[in-house]
Amino acid sequence: MAPLYIVMLGPPGAGKGTQAKKLAQTLDLVHVSTGDLFREHLKNETELGQLAQSYMNKGELVPDDVTIKMVEERLSRTDCEKGAVLDGFPRTPAQAEALEALLEKFDAGVKVVPYIKVPDEVLVERLSGRWMSTSGRVYHAQHNPPKVKWIDDLDGSPLYQREDDKPETVRHRIEVYTEQTAPLIDHYRQKGLLVEVDGTQAIEAVTEDLMKAVEEA
Ligand code: AMP
Repeated sequence: MAPLYIVMLGPPGAGKGTQAKKLAQTLDLVHVSTGDLFREHLKNETELGQLAQSYMNKGELVPDDVTIKMVEERLSRTDCEKGAVLDGFPRTPAQAEALEALLEKFDAGVKVVPYIKVPDEVLVERLSGRWMSTSGRVYHAQHNPPKVKWIDDLDGSPLYQREDDKPETVRHRIEVYTEQTAPLIDHYRQKGLLVEVDGTQAIEAVTEDLMKAVEEA
């Protein structure tokens, strides 16, 4: 079967990560999140991690050349043979072009681009209240609180707030999204790949809409 590539589009805080993980699990695909890859490099104190850190903490995008190289390397690994759910990539027109060129080499293409829509004021509230676990679970101070404040329900480890989820940085990330990533909405709409999904619904309802979008693609 031809590999299946799905690009999740939407502003920071739309729920791309949560939904991409679920989709990847259901469809037996790999979840490729560039944000997670950069955070992993940061944790491992690699050269790329050090370079990425200054951009990430300011809410800016890491330069295209290094980002593209990292994704090319990740998608070329054998675990991606069946395809991937891309979360946080592409984020610029140059990245979208690079992705198309890479997938062409694999004799494949992007199958569908779900665009998770959420208004700006909801994003700020969602991101500023977000608490992360080191194992990848995501909580929210009000909407999805852990049983004990700042403690992961499953393994009891301490939760943390992402450096770039501080309110000032959140606002800048939304601006960067509007300027650099939002043009991709039209790009994929023109290609007939875009499917709009209402991201203000409950998590399960969003997943259902996304599955429908993939099945009908
Ligand atoms: P995320 O976890 O997707 O919100 O990404 C966190 C941060 O990682 C972003 O604010 C950027 O600094 C960086 N980043 C993630 N994906 C990309 C990308 N495709 N291009 C450039 N920078 C990225």
